[in-house]
Amino acid sequence: MKITIGHLYPDLLNLYGDRGNIACLMKRCQWRGIEAETIEFESDDAIDFSKLDIVLLGGGSDREQMLVCEKLKVIQKNFKAYVEDNGVVIAVCGGYQLLGNYYKTEEGTIEGLHLVDLYTEQGEGRLIDNIVIQSDLFELPVVGFENHGGRTYINDNQPFGKVLYGSGNTGESGYEGVVYKNVIGTYLHGPLLPKNPQVCDWLIQRALERKYGAVEPLAPLDDSWELEANAYICNRFLK
Ligand code: GLN
Repeated sequence: MKITIGHLYPDLLNLYGDRGNIACLMKRCQWRGIEAETIEFESDDAIDFSKLDIVLLGGGSDREQMLVCEKLKVIQKNFKAYVEDNGVVIAVCGGYQLLGNYYKTEEGTIEGLHLVDLYTEQGEGRLIDNIVIQSDLFELPVVGFENHGGRTYINDNQPFGKVLYGSGNTGESGYEGVVYKNVIGTYLHGPLLPKNPQVCDWLIQRALERKYGAVEPLAPLDDSWELEANAYICNRFLK
């Protein structure tokens, strides 16, 4: 079995080392004998979504998002078809905002990809802190760090999780991120997947099922360090 990961615009969207998420996806496949390949697409490259099993859209500053927004118009139709065909996507922070209809900032409105019916508006002050959420998809809480000025409104979509500590989508809704088909959008930055191997394995499992039909559940790996780190963060922030 083989998984091909598409990393979109690492030249523009790579805040807080989003690339670490790629390394995690690759390693957790390889450790199980699943072949893994990553294709990096820079801003002007053509993207053949039919060759991809997982797409990663990382975070960026407002300025970079503004630049990327022009490129997105070119790929919108094919990206939408990929999502509707249950293509797996992990979109982090700026990438999460770009999944939606628009991101309104003081400098202007950034047109989104219209892949998920949500929108983002810049609010007063940035929401910066550690964050712990409980997702219906996993038993273990998902832990991370958030830093965003945008507030994301997900309409009737399913959130990624309920905020146990931190701000989440708007700082007020009590929810974080979004799940739509096989797409996860989240404000949890950088090392989301190394910190949360259960999220990484969900993406791999979904990608394998889409490509190969019914497959065995992924073989467990030794995640004792990750579990210890997760417990430490939960103990620190959840009183
Ligand atoms: N520029 C966006 C915001 O501030 C996203 C930032 C990010 O990716 N960290 O809301």
